[in-house]
Amino acid sequence: MSSVSAAVSTACPICGQESRALFEKHTYWIHECGQCHHRFAPVEPTPEHAAQIYDDDYFHSGGAGYPDYLGEADMLIAHGRRYGKLLRSYMQPGTVLDVGAAAGFVLKGLTETGWQGTGIDPNPSMVHHARDVLGLDAAVGTLEDFQTPRTFDLVSMVQVVAHFYDLRKAFARAAALTKPSGYWLIETWNKDSFVARALGENWHEYSPPSVLHWFSPDSLHDAVVPLGFRRVAQGRPEKWLNGAHAKSLVQYKLEGSPLRALLNLIPDGLPIPYPTFDLFWAIYQKAPTP
Ligand SMILES: [Zn+2]
Repeated sequence: MSSVSAAVSTACPICGQESRALFEKHTYWIHECGQCHHRFAPVEPTPEHAAQIYDDDYFHSGGAGYPDYLGEADMLIAHGRRYGKLLRSYMQPGTVLDVGAAAGFVLKGLTETGWQGTGIDPNPSMVHHARDVLGLDAAVGTLEDFQTPRTFDLVSMVQVVAHFYDLRKAFARAAALTKPSGYWLIETWNKDSFVARALGENWHEYSPPSVLHWFSPDSLHDAVVPLGFRRVAQGRPEKWLNGAHAKSLVQYKLEGSPLRALLNLIPDGLPIPYPTFDLFWAIYQKAPTP
């Protein structure tokens, strides 16, 4: 049964053209735009969507989410530091808004490389951790509805653009929150990567409703450029998972396979390099005048 009701638009959220339903995953239809080939799951855009999907289970119960998000603290902080170092090639550290900051680990890594950060996340427990354990400035909310008089030198969207329940509104907010000549850092999955193409419908990132958008570097570019941004750089991230997270993802993939038993040999705390053939990052810069 399809979860797309008559009220939900199936027009492409990037270019507005007609899309067609490709396949069904977890009762959601995944659509592809006939014009720009962006893939997305049409859902009714509500803030409640984010609060329901990113509840505490998402960060603790495995499946498409995290078996133990807090257990990945060191690796995620290191991920933030790596991005902090990367950004230095293109800009001086300043103020950053970290969207989908969760418990604040990536933001913590950015602050360790000189950035002054503010994080937002729809999950109150995660924001509590960012604030009270890490001492970061963080607020509960979604980018789509985030209200502040401040603007930022950088809006960081690491592993978040695929989750926006209202992509156009989210990018419009992000653009408004970026200072003239300010930057965006985006990391997301590449649906046109070899891995994603080879796995087809079985690619693990086709996991609606937590993931709603599947970009390629080109479709991301098509979404960002009309907002007055230019691409500064693009690449593939280095990424590490701990053993527990890697096992949880693979178990989710290998449901019913005897290979699952072998996974128990991997210690939960073991850092495992994640082959990032299906991930990319991009840095965009806003035009100097609004
Ligand atoms: Zn399109």
